[in-house]
Amino acid sequence: MITVIGSGYVGLVAGACLAELGNDVVCIDTDAAKIDMLRRGEVPIFEPGLESLLRRGQEAGRLEFTTDYDLAVSRSTIFLIAVGTPPEEDGSADLRHVLSAAAAIGERLTRKAVIVNKSTVPVETAAKVEAVIAERLQARGVDVEFSVVSNPEFLKEGAAIEDFTRPDRIIIGSSDAWATEVMRNLYAPLNRRQDKIIVMDPRSAELTKYAANAMLATRISFMNELAHLSEAVGADIEAVRRGIGSDPRIGLRFLYPGCGYGGSCFPKDARALIRMGAEHKVPLRVMQAVEEANRRQKHALFEKLATFYGGERELDGKTIALWGLSFKPDTDDMREAPSRVLIEDLLSHGAQVRAYDPAAMKQTRQIFADASRLTLCPSAADALEGSDALAIVTEWREFRSPDFDEIASRLKDKAVFDGRNMYERSVTDTAGLAYFDIGRNPVE
Ligand code: NAD
Repeated sequence: MITVIGSGYVGLVAGACLAELGNDVVCIDTDAAKIDMLRRGEVPIFEPGLESLLRRGQEAGRLEFTTDYDLAVSRSTIFLIAVGTPPEEDGSADLRHVLSAAAAIGERLTRKAVIVNKSTVPVETAAKVEAVIAERLQARGVDVEFSVVSNPEFLKEGAAIEDFTRPDRIIIGSSDAWATEVMRNLYAPLNRRQDKIIVMDPRSAELTKYAANAMLATRISFMNELAHLSEAVGADIEAVRRGIGSDPRIGLRFLYPGCGYGGSCFPKDARALIRMGAEHKVPLRVMQAVEEANRRQKHALFEKLATFYGGERELDGKTIALWGLSFKPDTDDMREAPSRVLIEDLLSHGAQVRAYDPAAMKQTRQIFADASRLTLCPSAADALEGSDALAIVTEWREFRSPDFDEIASRLKDKAVFDGRNMYERSVTDTAGLAYFDIGRNPVE
């Protein structure tokens, strides 16, 4: 039996996929409303393919949901901790949920177990989890063997099931041969064609997760800065992207400029890494710059709109249609989404916003509950109604091939601000639209 602690994006996907492989899995969460939904067969998050996988696991009797730690701990020998690690004020990762999960295990554990940190946590957290469990066992006067393993998760929201079941690599941070073997067996069904398991010490495993996200965030911020430079010097960032990406040392993937990275991982992990560096007196200057560049980049579309209208003040009274709210396509996750910054910029300058997203409407309604000048629209076409200009923040597939003539006929000022470089200027020109993207200048 496997217990997954935390039934969010990572916990639910891990639980559902492990149940699909034939394991008996119990998913626990402290959020009773979430567990009630899951028991009723409803999925609290939007993640392609997750609903059917959860249903299959439940119907097969291999997947349960509970809020009861007694039940969740008594039957298992493998515990995956997948609770949130949100940022503290100073940027460091808040370990409260991880350590409270560890305490709950230590208060109840009766047989030899592996405790797996799947949450993204700073170096030394495995040792902290171990200390908390040992202390609780000692307080109970019992002696139960256990081992803590760091097994960071690399799934991407929107492709989480594919990523979990076909991982590029499986990092096992362990200094205990028995626990390493348990982990190898757990992942054996996903590791058949080619050995993707990389075993290392727990500290290196913990750092690997931050290093991966930091490297990806760096690529994005670097491309965003090059896009600004392209605009200034009359170059085309898309040509530059292809030109540099064809070098295998650079590669073409994940090299797109845009209106800033968001989500629950890159921004918080970049800040946590900077904090970790500061604590160990190793200033991470590159990451500081990446973070600062991204914070500014989230205002890029607003700045383009302001320039178009002849100044920020001119946005007062304008109505801007906004397509895409989630931080990226195929998710409803609004954590640190660039759309939030654009909406705040527009509202604080007196503009009206008519927004649409295929998945994140409920989340947006909660976040902007008091924003009277934000209208959430039932469709992309509806968002255009009565709008002066259109801004695109998230590259959902349904925005890829819109009817440009219709956009032009509905927008009073016939201007499109594309934060994801989705369209060809020749097409928008033909429709009579003014088109502003990120760093692609028309070829003279
Ligand atoms: P989430 O907020 O979606 O889910 C976390 C869940 O944990 C919540 O449902 C919360 O109620 C529950 N929880 C909190 N304390 C608990 C406790 N003591 N016992 C039981 N449940 C508890 O978070 P997430 O996006 O799934 O991320 C989880 C971790 O995985 C984070 O550290 C994150 O950085 C990391 N991670 C996330 C992703 C991603 O794409 N979302 C990818 C890789 C790694």
